[in-house]
Amino acid sequence: MFIDDIVPPICYYCATSIREGLLCKECNSQLSYIHPIAAHSKRDGRFLFLWEYQGLPAFLIKKWKFNHDIVARDIILSCVDSYLTEFREEFSDIDFVGFIPMHPLKERFVRWWNPAAVIARYISDRLNISLVDVLSVRLFKPELHKIRDRDLRLKKIRNSFRIREGALERLLSVSKEIRFLLVDDIVTTEATFKEASYTLVKAVKNLVIKGFVLCG
Ligand SMILES: [Zn+2]
Repeated sequence: MFIDDIVPPICYYCATSIREGLLCKECNSQLSYIHPIAAHSKRDGRFLFLWEYQGLPAFLIKKWKFNHDIVARDIILSCVDSYLTEFREEFSDIDFVGFIPMHPLKERFVRWWNPAAVIARYISDRLNISLVDVLSVRLFKPELHKIRDRDLRLKKIRNSFRIREGALERLLSVSKEIRFLLVDDIVTTEATFKEASYTLVKAVKNLVIKGFVLCG
């Protein structure tokens, strides 16, 4: 006897009865992606993002990031997987993939729990692009996420990241222009993304950064 025979499956988000899978049809439709053309035009070509930060996507990311919920993680990864298939050409010129790290203290233990790290590793495996773990957090500012003002946030976040030396050598050994895919989970004010990009480009002059973000 399977668990489904005793407890009929329900949608992970809205709890209505479903026959199979994890989400009902209506909830699933909330996960349809923003087309790369629309994403690029909204962010001046700087990064691709799958969804707006609201509703079901926001719920899933929070569940994964803060509750370490593996169902939420798996739903998101399956969306990333089909996005990579559908828009494969967006990634065809990428040489390396990396991610924005989370927290210097927690990092040692949960570095690979960070959704950005998991997604970067997933993209690396799936598209056969070298993963380079090049950034770490120098300073953690707990109040930072509460700041909504873009300029103030950018000022506060300055010098928050540092380069991991071993990984840097790999990038510096490449003489041609390097197309680097920088992954993060949520980008709202772009302050974190900009500071991380700035840190990277300062260290590696021939780096061209393209972002890949779940919610932007
Ligand atoms: Zn539902």
